[in-house]
Amino acid sequence: MSKELDAFSLFPRENISDVDTKNDVAFHDVDEKAQVYWSKSLKIIKDNVSNQVFKTWFQPLKPLKWNNDILTVKVPSQFFCEWIEEHFYPLLQKTVSQVMGPKAKLQYQVVVEKDSDPSEDRTIKLPGLKQAPQSNQPSLSFSGSQAKAPTFSSYLNGRYTFDNFIEGESNQFAVSAGKAIAKEPGGTRFNPLVLYGGTGLGKTHLVQAIGNHIISKSRRSRVLYTTSERFTMEYISSIQNNKLNDFINYYRSIDALIVDDIQFFGGKEKTQDNFFHTFNALHQEGKQLVLTSDKAPRDLKDVDERLMSRFQWGLIVDIQPPDFEMRMAILQKKSEDEGIELPMDVVEYLARSITKSIRELEGALISLIAKVTLDRKYLTLALAKEVISGIRCSDPKPITIEDIKEEVVNYYKLSLELVESKSRKHEIALARQMAMYLAKKMTPSSLKTIGSYFGNRDHSTVLHSCQAIENYLVTDNNVKSAFETLSKQLDHTIR
Ligand code: ADP
Ligand code: MG
Repeated sequence: MSKELDAFSLFPRENISDVDTKNDVAFHDVDEKAQVYWSKSLKIIKDNVSNQVFKTWFQPLKPLKWNNDILTVKVPSQFFCEWIEEHFYPLLQKTVSQVMGPKAKLQYQVVVEKDSDPSEDRTIKLPGLKQAPQSNQPSLSFSGSQAKAPTFSSYLNGRYTFDNFIEGESNQFAVSAGKAIAKEPGGTRFNPLVLYGGTGLGKTHLVQAIGNHIISKSRRSRVLYTTSERFTMEYISSIQNNKLNDFINYYRSIDALIVDDIQFFGGKEKTQDNFFHTFNALHQEGKQLVLTSDKAPRDLKDVDERLMSRFQWGLIVDIQPPDFEMRMAILQKKSEDEGIELPMDVVEYLARSITKSIRELEGALISLIAKVTLDRKYLTLALAKEVISGIRCSDPKPITIEDIKEEVVNYYKLSLELVESKSRKHEIALARQMAMYLAKKMTPSSLKTIGSYFGNRDHSTVLHSCQAIENYLVTDNNVKSAFETLSKQLDHTIR
Protein backbone atom coordinates (compact mmCIF):
# COMPACT_ATOMS: atom_id res chain seq x y z
CA MET A 1 0.00 0.00 0.00
CA SER A 2 2.66 2.47 0.90
CA LYS A 3 4.04 3.69 -2.33
CA GLU A 4 7.66 4.66 -2.07
CA LEU A 5 8.23 8.35 -2.11
CA ASP A 6 11.03 10.04 -3.84
CA ALA A 7 13.63 11.58 -1.58
CA PHE A 8 12.45 15.01 -2.53
CA SER A 9 8.72 14.62 -2.50
CA LEU A 10 6.41 14.95 0.43
CA PHE A 11 2.98 13.41 0.66
CA PRO A 12 0.91 13.14 -2.43
CA ARG A 13 -2.65 12.78 -1.13
CA GLU A 14 -3.40 9.79 -3.24
CA ASN A 15 -1.02 7.76 -1.13
CA ILE A 16 -3.31 7.95 1.84
CA SER A 17 -5.68 5.14 2.43
CA ASP A 18 -7.77 3.77 5.22
CA VAL A 19 -6.46 0.77 6.98
CA ASP A 20 -8.26 -1.95 8.81
CA THR A 21 -7.21 -1.52 12.42
CA LYS A 22 -7.82 -5.20 13.19
CA ASN A 23 -4.82 -6.18 11.11
CA ASP A 24 -2.60 -3.76 12.83
CA VAL A 25 -0.68 -4.20 15.97
CA ALA A 26 -2.60 -3.28 19.09
CA PHE A 27 -1.18 -0.18 20.64
CA HIS A 28 -0.30 -1.77 23.96
CA ASP A 29 1.55 -4.43 22.04
CA VAL A 30 4.37 -2.28 20.78
CA ASP A 31 7.22 -4.38 19.59
CA GLU A 32 10.40 -4.05 21.52
CA LYS A 33 12.62 -3.34 18.58
CA ALA A 34 10.42 -0.44 17.54
CA GLN A 35 10.75 0.97 21.04
CA VAL A 36 14.50 0.67 21.06
CA TYR A 37 14.97 2.13 17.60
CA TRP A 38 12.64 4.97 18.26
CA SER A 39 14.19 5.94 21.56
CA LYS A 40 17.64 5.93 19.92
CA SER A 41 16.26 8.12 17.14
CA LEU A 42 14.72 10.51 19.63
CA LYS A 43 18.09 10.97 21.30
CA ILE A 44 19.63 12.11 18.02
CA ILE A 45 16.66 14.29 17.16
CA LYS A 46 16.79 15.91 20.58
CA ASP A 47 20.39 16.91 19.95
CA ASN A 48 19.38 18.71 16.80
CA VAL A 49 16.26 20.68 17.61
CA SER A 50 15.19 23.05 20.36
CA ASN A 51 13.45 21.76 23.42
CA GLN A 52 10.17 23.31 22.42
CA VAL A 53 10.29 21.83 18.93
CA PHE A 54 11.16 18.46 20.38
CA LYS A 55 8.23 18.55 22.78
CA THR A 56 5.73 19.77 20.23
CA TRP A 57 6.63 17.64 17.25
CA PHE A 58 8.60 14.60 18.30
CA GLN A 59 7.52 13.63 21.78
CA PRO A 60 3.94 13.00 20.63
CA LEU A 61 5.11 10.39 18.12
CA LYS A 62 4.93 6.85 19.46
CA PRO A 63 6.56 3.77 17.98
CA LEU A 64 4.17 1.01 16.94
CA LYS A 65 6.06 -1.68 15.13
CA TRP A 66 9.18 -2.65 13.29
CA ASN A 67 8.68 -4.90 10.34
CA ASN A 68 10.59 -5.48 7.10
CA ASP A 69 12.87 -2.51 7.68
CA ILE A 70 9.90 -0.25 8.26
CA LEU A 71 9.37 1.53 11.53
CA THR A 72 5.77 2.60 12.01
CA VAL A 73 5.10 5.50 14.32
CA LYS A 74 1.80 6.85 15.50
CA VAL A 75 0.93 10.49 14.78
CA PRO A 76 -2.08 12.49 15.92
CA SER A 77 -3.15 13.85 12.52
CA GLN A 78 -2.31 13.85 8.88
CA PHE A 79 -1.55 17.54 9.03
CA PHE A 80 0.85 16.84 11.87
CA CYS A 81 2.93 14.36 9.91
CA GLU A 82 2.93 16.49 6.78
CA TRP A 83 4.31 19.26 8.91
CA ILE A 84 7.00 17.03 10.34
CA GLU A 85 8.14 15.80 6.94
CA GLU A 86 8.03 19.26 5.49
CA HIS A 87 10.13 20.80 8.23
CA PHE A 88 12.35 18.03 9.52
CA TYR A 89 12.81 15.78 6.51
CA PRO A 90 16.62 15.91 6.29
CA LEU A 91 17.02 15.32 10.01
CA LEU A 92 14.57 12.41 10.00
CA GLN A 93 16.13 10.84 6.96
CA LYS A 94 19.61 11.01 8.46
CA THR A 95 18.46 9.73 11.81
CA VAL A 96 16.52 6.80 10.42
CA SER A 97 19.40 5.58 8.31
CA GLN A 98 21.90 6.13 11.10
CA VAL A 99 19.92 4.20 13.69
CA MET A 100 18.18 1.55 11.60
CA GLY A 101 20.44 1.17 8.62
CA PRO A 102 20.39 2.44 5.06
CA LYS A 103 17.38 0.40 3.99
CA ALA A 104 15.14 1.58 6.76
CA LYS A 105 11.98 3.52 6.15
CA LEU A 106 9.63 5.39 8.37
CA GLN A 107 5.90 5.07 8.07
CA TYR A 108 3.33 7.14 9.85
CA GLN A 109 0.03 5.92 11.12
CA VAL A 110 -2.52 8.57 11.87
CA VAL A 111 -4.52 7.64 14.92
CA VAL A 112 -7.29 9.93 15.90
CA GLU A 113 -8.40 8.81 19.31
CA LYS A 114 -11.97 9.77 19.95
CA ASP A 115 -13.16 9.64 23.54
CA SER A 116 -11.42 6.84 25.33
CA ASP A 117 -12.84 4.02 23.33
CA PRO A 118 -9.99 2.61 21.29
CA SER A 119 -12.41 0.82 19.00
CA GLU A 120 -13.31 4.22 17.61
CA ASP A 121 -9.79 5.03 16.53
CA ARG A 122 -9.53 6.09 12.98
CA THR A 123 -6.35 4.80 11.49
CA ILE A 124 -4.79 5.95 8.29
CA LYS A 125 -1.43 4.82 7.09
CA LEU A 126 0.91 7.22 5.41
CA PRO A 127 4.14 6.35 3.78
CA GLY A 128 7.01 8.17 5.37
CA LEU A 129 10.59 8.50 4.41
CA LYS A 130 11.78 6.83 1.34
CA GLN A 131 14.60 4.37 1.61
CA ALA A 132 17.64 6.37 2.55
CA PRO A 133 20.12 6.82 -0.30
CA GLN A 134 22.77 4.17 -0.18
CA SER A 135 25.49 6.12 -1.84
CA ASN A 136 26.63 9.67 -1.75
CA GLN A 137 25.04 10.28 -5.11
CA PRO A 138 22.03 12.55 -4.98
CA SER A 139 18.95 11.15 -6.65
CA LEU A 140 18.80 12.74 -10.05
CA SER A 141 15.50 13.53 -11.60
CA PHE A 142 16.93 13.46 -15.09
CA SER A 143 18.78 10.15 -14.89
CA GLY A 144 15.85 8.68 -12.99
CA SER A 145 13.47 9.58 -15.74
CA GLN A 146 15.59 8.49 -18.64
CA ALA A 147 17.51 5.51 -17.48
CA LYS A 148 15.43 3.77 -14.86
CA ALA A 149 11.84 4.80 -14.49
CA PRO A 150 9.87 5.20 -17.70
CA THR A 151 7.49 7.56 -15.96
CA PHE A 152 8.21 11.20 -15.57
CA SER A 153 8.11 12.59 -12.06
CA SER A 154 6.95 16.17 -11.62
CA TYR A 155 8.01 16.37 -7.97
CA LEU A 156 4.79 18.19 -7.24
CA ASN A 157 3.02 17.79 -3.94
CA GLY A 158 -0.65 17.11 -4.59
CA ARG A 159 -1.61 18.84 -1.38
CA TYR A 160 -0.94 22.27 -2.86
CA THR A 161 -3.89 23.34 -4.97
CA PHE A 162 -5.74 26.53 -5.87
CA ASP A 163 -8.77 25.18 -4.04
CA ASN A 164 -7.08 25.25 -0.69
CA PHE A 165 -5.20 28.48 -1.29
CA ILE A 166 -6.94 31.42 0.34
CA GLU A 167 -7.01 34.62 -1.62
CA GLY A 168 -6.75 38.04 -0.05
CA GLU A 169 -5.52 41.47 -0.95
CA SER A 170 -1.94 40.52 -0.20
CA ASN A 171 -1.76 37.77 -2.82
CA GLN A 172 -4.59 38.58 -5.23
CA PHE A 173 -2.44 39.68 -8.11
CA ALA A 174 -0.13 36.72 -7.74
CA VAL A 175 -3.08 34.29 -7.66
CA SER A 176 -4.69 35.82 -10.76
CA ALA A 177 -1.44 35.60 -12.68
CA GLY A 178 -0.94 32.04 -11.44
CA LYS A 179 -4.40 30.98 -12.56
CA ALA A 180 -3.96 32.59 -15.96
CA ILE A 181 -0.75 30.67 -16.48
CA ALA A 182 -2.22 27.44 -15.21
CA LYS A 183 -4.98 27.71 -17.80
CA GLU A 184 -2.69 28.55 -20.63
CA PRO A 185 0.90 27.63 -19.85
CA GLY A 186 3.32 29.46 -22.14
CA GLY A 187 0.41 31.24 -23.76
CA THR A 188 0.25 34.43 -21.73
CA ARG A 189 2.48 37.45 -21.38
CA PHE A 190 3.44 36.19 -17.95
CA ASN A 191 6.47 34.25 -19.02
CA PRO A 192 8.40 33.94 -16.85
CA LEU A 193 6.24 34.52 -13.82
CA VAL A 194 8.52 35.56 -10.98
CA LEU A 195 6.88 35.48 -7.55
CA TYR A 196 8.67 36.96 -4.61
CA GLY A 197 7.91 37.56 -0.95
CA GLY A 198 8.95 36.73 2.61
CA THR A 199 9.14 33.23 3.92
CA GLY A 200 5.95 31.38 4.81
CA LEU A 201 3.70 33.54 2.64
CA GLY A 202 2.62 30.88 0.17
CA LYS A 203 5.06 31.07 -2.75
CA THR A 204 5.74 27.36 -2.86
CA HIS A 205 2.07 26.55 -2.43
CA LEU A 206 1.04 28.85 -5.25
CA VAL A 207 3.61 27.70 -7.78
CA GLN A 208 2.86 24.07 -7.02
CA ALA A 209 -0.85 24.81 -7.43
CA ILE A 210 -0.04 26.10 -10.91
CA GLY A 211 1.83 22.89 -11.69
CA ASN A 212 -0.89 20.65 -10.27
CA HIS A 213 -3.53 22.47 -12.26
CA ILE A 214 -1.62 22.09 -15.52
CA ILE A 215 -1.22 18.38 -14.91
CA SER A 216 -4.87 17.96 -13.99
CA LYS A 217 -5.86 19.40 -17.37
CA SER A 218 -3.27 17.64 -19.40
CA ARG A 219 -1.81 14.51 -17.85
CA ARG A 220 0.93 14.22 -20.43
CA SER A 221 2.30 17.65 -19.74
CA ARG A 222 5.86 17.52 -18.48
CA VAL A 223 5.62 19.87 -15.55
CA LEU A 224 8.65 19.90 -13.30
CA TYR A 225 8.84 21.43 -9.86
CA THR A 226 12.37 21.88 -8.62
CA THR A 227 14.39 24.20 -6.43
CA SER A 228 17.50 26.14 -7.32
CA GLU A 229 19.35 23.93 -4.87
CA ARG A 230 18.24 20.73 -6.54
CA PHE A 231 19.03 22.16 -9.96
CA THR A 232 22.52 23.04 -8.71
CA MET A 233 23.06 19.66 -7.15
CA GLU A 234 21.94 17.86 -10.29
CA TYR A 235 24.12 20.03 -12.45
CA ILE A 236 27.22 19.33 -10.36
CA SER A 237 26.47 15.69 -10.20
CA SER A 238 25.86 15.47 -13.94
CA ILE A 239 29.35 16.84 -14.48
CA GLN A 240 30.88 14.40 -12.02
CA ASN A 241 29.14 11.50 -13.72
CA ASN A 242 29.72 12.60 -17.29
CA LYS A 243 26.02 13.08 -17.79
CA LEU A 244 25.87 16.73 -18.67
CA ASN A 245 24.13 15.98 -21.95
CA ASP A 246 21.44 13.97 -20.22
CA PHE A 247 20.97 16.82 -17.81
CA ILE A 248 20.64 19.40 -20.60
CA ASN A 249 18.30 17.24 -22.66
CA TYR A 250 16.15 16.44 -19.69
CA TYR A 251 15.61 20.07 -18.75
CA ARG A 252 14.93 21.05 -22.33
CA SER A 253 12.18 18.48 -22.58
CA ILE A 254 10.10 20.18 -19.89
CA ASP A 255 6.82 21.92 -20.78
CA ALA A 256 6.49 23.98 -17.64
CA LEU A 257 9.52 24.49 -15.43
CA ILE A 258 8.96 25.71 -11.88
CA VAL A 259 12.08 26.69 -9.96
CA ASP A 260 11.55 27.58 -6.31
CA ASP A 261 13.85 29.80 -4.25
CA ILE A 262 16.11 31.12 -6.97
CA GLN A 263 17.92 33.26 -4.39
CA PHE A 264 20.14 30.22 -3.81
CA PHE A 265 21.53 30.56 -7.33
CA GLY A 266 23.45 33.57 -5.99
CA GLY A 267 27.18 33.24 -6.54
CA LYS A 268 26.94 29.93 -8.43
CA GLU A 269 28.13 31.21 -11.78
CA LYS A 270 28.40 28.01 -13.73
CA THR A 271 25.01 26.78 -12.56
CA GLN A 272 23.46 30.11 -13.43
CA ASP A 273 25.04 30.01 -16.83
CA ASN A 274 23.51 26.62 -17.43
CA PHE A 275 20.16 27.73 -16.08
CA PHE A 276 20.31 30.79 -18.36
CA HIS A 277 20.67 28.56 -21.42
CA THR A 278 17.91 26.24 -20.23
CA PHE A 279 15.71 29.26 -19.65
CA ASN A 280 16.34 30.61 -23.13
CA ALA A 281 15.77 27.30 -24.85
CA LEU A 282 12.45 26.74 -23.07
CA HIS A 283 11.28 30.32 -23.50
CA GLN A 284 12.02 30.22 -27.17
CA GLU A 285 9.82 27.18 -27.56
CA GLY A 286 6.97 28.87 -25.74
CA LYS A 287 7.34 26.71 -22.63
CA GLN A 288 6.23 28.18 -19.34
CA LEU A 289 8.71 29.26 -16.65
CA VAL A 290 7.72 30.01 -13.08
CA LEU A 291 10.26 31.18 -10.53
CA THR A 292 10.13 32.22 -6.89
CA SER A 293 12.48 34.18 -4.73
CA ASP A 294 12.49 35.42 -1.16
CA LYS A 295 13.47 38.91 -2.33
CA ALA A 296 12.71 41.19 -5.23
CA PRO A 297 14.88 40.24 -8.21
CA ARG A 298 16.63 43.61 -8.07
CA ASP A 299 17.80 42.78 -4.54
CA LEU A 300 19.18 39.38 -5.40
CA LYS A 301 22.88 39.10 -4.77
CA ASP A 302 25.37 37.71 -7.26
CA VAL A 303 22.84 36.83 -9.91
CA ASP A 304 23.94 37.25 -13.50
CA GLU A 305 22.69 40.43 -15.19
CA ARG A 306 21.65 38.43 -18.25
CA LEU A 307 19.42 36.24 -16.16
CA MET A 308 17.97 39.27 -14.35
CA SER A 309 17.13 40.90 -17.66
CA ARG A 310 15.23 37.75 -18.69
CA PHE A 311 12.98 38.14 -15.65
CA GLN A 312 11.79 41.47 -17.04
CA TRP A 313 10.38 39.68 -20.07
CA GLY A 314 7.47 38.39 -18.07
CA LEU A 315 5.77 39.40 -14.88
CA ILE A 316 7.36 40.04 -11.50
CA VAL A 317 4.83 40.04 -8.70
CA ASP A 318 5.08 40.06 -4.93
CA ILE A 319 3.13 38.41 -2.14
CA GLN A 320 2.68 40.49 1.01
CA PRO A 321 1.96 39.28 4.55
CA PRO A 322 -1.75 38.51 5.04
CA ASP A 323 -4.07 41.05 6.66
CA PHE A 324 -6.21 40.22 9.67
CA GLU A 325 -9.26 39.06 7.73
CA MET A 326 -7.18 36.79 5.60
CA ARG A 327 -5.50 35.28 8.63
CA MET A 328 -8.93 34.57 10.08
CA ALA A 329 -10.04 32.97 6.82
CA ILE A 330 -6.93 30.80 6.67
CA LEU A 331 -7.42 29.55 10.23
CA GLN A 332 -11.06 28.76 9.60
CA LYS A 333 -10.36 26.89 6.40
CA LYS A 334 -7.49 24.88 7.84
CA SER A 335 -9.36 23.90 10.98
CA GLU A 336 -12.36 22.93 8.89
CA ASP A 337 -10.12 20.71 6.77
CA GLU A 338 -8.91 19.07 9.95
CA GLY A 339 -12.47 18.51 11.07
CA ILE A 340 -12.04 20.73 14.11
CA GLU A 341 -14.37 23.54 15.01
CA LEU A 342 -12.43 26.50 16.38
CA PRO A 343 -14.29 28.82 18.74
CA MET A 344 -14.42 32.35 17.36
CA ASP A 345 -12.42 33.88 20.21
CA VAL A 346 -9.63 31.38 19.56
CA VAL A 347 -9.57 32.17 15.83
CA GLU A 348 -9.38 35.85 16.59
CA TYR A 349 -6.71 35.43 19.20
CA LEU A 350 -4.49 33.40 16.88
CA ALA A 351 -5.07 35.76 13.97
CA ARG A 352 -4.09 38.73 16.12
CA SER A 353 -1.06 37.07 17.67
CA ILE A 354 0.62 35.72 14.55
CA THR A 355 0.89 38.22 11.77
CA LYS A 356 4.00 37.70 9.69
CA SER A 357 3.82 34.25 8.24
CA ILE A 358 1.13 31.83 7.19
CA ARG A 359 3.48 28.98 7.96
CA GLU A 360 3.67 30.12 11.58
CA LEU A 361 -0.06 30.54 11.73
CA GLU A 362 -0.46 27.01 10.48
CA GLY A 363 2.16 25.80 12.98
CA ALA A 364 0.30 27.34 15.91
CA LEU A 365 -2.94 25.77 14.76
CA ILE A 366 -1.33 22.35 14.44
CA SER A 367 0.22 22.60 17.91
CA LEU A 368 -3.17 23.51 19.27
CA ILE A 369 -4.87 20.62 17.54
CA ALA A 370 -2.15 18.28 18.74
CA LYS A 371 -2.73 19.37 22.34
CA VAL A 372 -6.44 18.84 22.02
CA THR A 373 -6.02 15.42 20.43
CA LEU A 374 -3.17 14.07 22.50
CA ASP A 375 -3.74 15.58 25.90
CA ARG A 376 -7.50 15.45 25.44
CA LYS A 377 -7.90 19.04 26.43
CA TYR A 378 -10.79 21.31 25.56
CA LEU A 379 -10.17 23.82 22.85
CA THR A 380 -10.42 27.07 24.75
CA LEU A 381 -8.93 30.52 24.59
CA ALA A 382 -6.82 29.70 27.64
CA LEU A 383 -5.34 26.69 25.84
CA ALA A 384 -4.63 28.82 22.74
CA LYS A 385 -2.81 31.32 24.94
CA GLU A 386 -0.80 28.56 26.53
CA VAL A 387 0.23 27.19 23.14
CA ILE A 388 1.17 30.60 21.77
CA SER A 389 3.17 31.50 24.85
CA GLY A 390 4.96 28.16 24.52
CA ILE A 391 5.88 29.03 20.96
CA ARG A 392 6.94 32.54 21.93
CA CYS A 393 9.02 31.50 24.92
CA SER A 394 10.73 28.72 23.08
CA ASP A 395 14.47 28.94 23.00
CA PRO A 396 15.83 30.32 19.79
CA LYS A 397 16.24 27.48 17.35
CA PRO A 398 19.67 26.01 17.95
CA ILE A 399 22.09 25.69 15.11
CA THR A 400 22.15 22.20 13.69
CA ILE A 401 24.94 20.36 11.94
CA GLU A 402 22.79 20.50 8.79
CA ASP A 403 22.65 24.33 9.04
CA ILE A 404 26.41 24.43 9.34
CA LYS A 405 26.98 22.15 6.37
CA GLU A 406 24.66 24.28 4.28
CA GLU A 407 26.44 27.54 5.15
CA VAL A 408 29.85 25.98 4.58
CA VAL A 409 29.04 24.54 1.15
CA ASN A 410 27.57 27.89 0.10
CA TYR A 411 30.57 29.74 1.37
CA TYR A 412 33.10 27.51 -0.36
CA LYS A 413 30.82 27.00 -3.39
CA LEU A 414 31.07 23.23 -3.15
CA SER A 415 28.42 20.57 -3.20
CA LEU A 416 27.26 18.81 -0.08
CA GLU A 417 28.23 15.49 -1.63
CA LEU A 418 31.83 16.59 -2.01
CA VAL A 419 32.05 17.81 1.55
CA GLU A 420 30.68 14.50 2.80
CA SER A 421 32.83 12.49 0.42
CA LYS A 422 36.21 10.88 1.05
CA SER A 423 38.02 13.37 -1.18
CA ARG A 424 41.29 14.68 0.23
CA LYS A 425 41.60 17.54 -2.22
CA HIS A 426 42.76 20.53 -0.22
CA GLU A 427 39.80 22.86 -0.74
CA ILE A 428 37.30 20.08 -0.06
CA ALA A 429 39.12 18.79 3.00
CA LEU A 430 39.40 22.33 4.31
CA ALA A 431 35.68 22.98 3.91
CA ARG A 432 34.93 19.67 5.65
CA GLN A 433 37.29 20.46 8.51
CA MET A 434 35.77 23.91 8.85
CA ALA A 435 32.28 22.47 9.04
CA MET A 436 33.35 19.94 11.68
CA TYR A 437 35.06 22.64 13.69
CA LEU A 438 31.98 24.87 13.57
CA ALA A 439 29.83 21.91 14.56
CA LYS A 440 32.05 21.32 17.58
CA LYS A 441 31.95 25.00 18.54
CA MET A 442 28.32 25.76 17.86
CA THR A 443 26.40 22.59 18.66
CA PRO A 444 26.39 20.34 21.72
CA SER A 445 27.04 17.28 19.53
CA SER A 446 29.75 14.80 20.41
CA LEU A 447 32.73 14.17 18.12
CA LYS A 448 31.17 10.83 17.23
CA THR A 449 27.87 12.41 16.25
CA ILE A 450 29.63 15.07 14.21
CA GLY A 451 31.61 12.38 12.40
CA SER A 452 28.38 10.61 11.49
CA TYR A 453 27.24 13.69 9.58
CA PHE A 454 30.37 13.68 7.44
CA GLY A 455 30.40 10.34 5.70
CA ASN A 456 30.53 8.36 8.96
CA ARG A 457 33.98 9.46 10.04
CA ASP A 458 35.19 8.43 13.45
CA HIS A 459 35.74 10.73 16.39
CA SER A 460 39.52 10.91 16.01
CA THR A 461 39.13 12.30 12.47
CA VAL A 462 36.82 14.98 13.79
CA LEU A 463 39.25 15.80 16.57
CA HIS A 464 42.10 16.05 14.10
CA SER A 465 40.02 18.36 11.88
CA CYS A 466 39.25 20.66 14.78
CA GLN A 467 42.93 20.84 15.69
CA ALA A 468 43.86 21.55 12.08
CA ILE A 469 41.45 24.50 11.95
CA GLU A 470 42.71 25.82 15.31
CA ASN A 471 46.21 25.86 13.83
CA TYR A 472 45.05 27.58 10.65
CA LEU A 473 43.30 30.25 12.68
CA VAL A 474 46.65 31.52 13.91
CA THR A 475 48.62 30.96 10.73
CA ASP A 476 46.26 31.55 7.84
CA ASN A 477 44.25 34.73 7.41
CA ASN A 478 41.94 33.25 4.77
CA VAL A 479 40.84 30.50 7.10
CA LYS A 480 40.45 32.99 9.91
CA SER A 481 38.24 35.24 7.85
CA ALA A 482 36.21 32.26 6.59
CA PHE A 483 35.65 31.18 10.18
CA GLU A 484 34.59 34.67 11.24
CA THR A 485 32.19 35.13 8.31
CA LEU A 486 30.65 31.71 8.76
CA SER A 487 30.16 32.08 12.50
CA LYS A 488 28.51 35.43 11.94
CA GLN A 489 26.24 34.09 9.21
CA LEU A 490 25.22 31.13 11.32
CA ASP A 491 24.47 33.31 14.34
CA HIS A 492 22.37 35.43 12.08
CA THR A 493 20.34 32.58 10.72
CA ILE A 494 19.15 31.42 14.13
CA ARG A 495 15.50 32.30 14.34
P1 ADP B 1 6.81 30.10 1.14
O1 ADP B 1 7.16 29.21 0.01
O2 ADP B 1 6.42 31.48 0.70
O3 ADP B 1 7.84 30.14 2.23
P2 ADP B 1 4.73 28.15 1.58
O4 ADP B 1 4.10 28.11 0.25
O5 ADP B 1 5.64 27.03 1.94
O6 ADP B 1 5.49 29.52 1.83
O7 ADP B 1 3.57 28.28 2.66
C1 ADP B 1 3.74 27.94 4.02
C2 ADP B 1 2.52 27.20 4.51
O8 ADP B 1 1.41 28.08 4.54
C3 ADP B 1 2.13 26.07 3.58
O9 ADP B 1 1.68 24.98 4.37
C4 ADP B 1 0.99 26.62 2.76
O10 ADP B 1 0.07 25.61 2.38
C5 ADP B 1 0.36 27.61 3.71
N1 ADP B 1 -0.18 28.77 3.00
C6 ADP B 1 0.49 29.84 2.56
N2 ADP B 1 -0.31 30.71 1.96
C7 ADP B 1 -1.55 30.19 2.01
C8 ADP B 1 -2.83 30.63 1.56
N3 ADP B 1 -3.00 31.80 0.95
N4 ADP B 1 -3.89 29.82 1.79
C9 ADP B 1 -3.73 28.64 2.43
N5 ADP B 1 -2.56 28.17 2.89
C10 ADP B 1 -1.47 28.94 2.68
MG1 MG C 1 8.90 28.08 -0.30
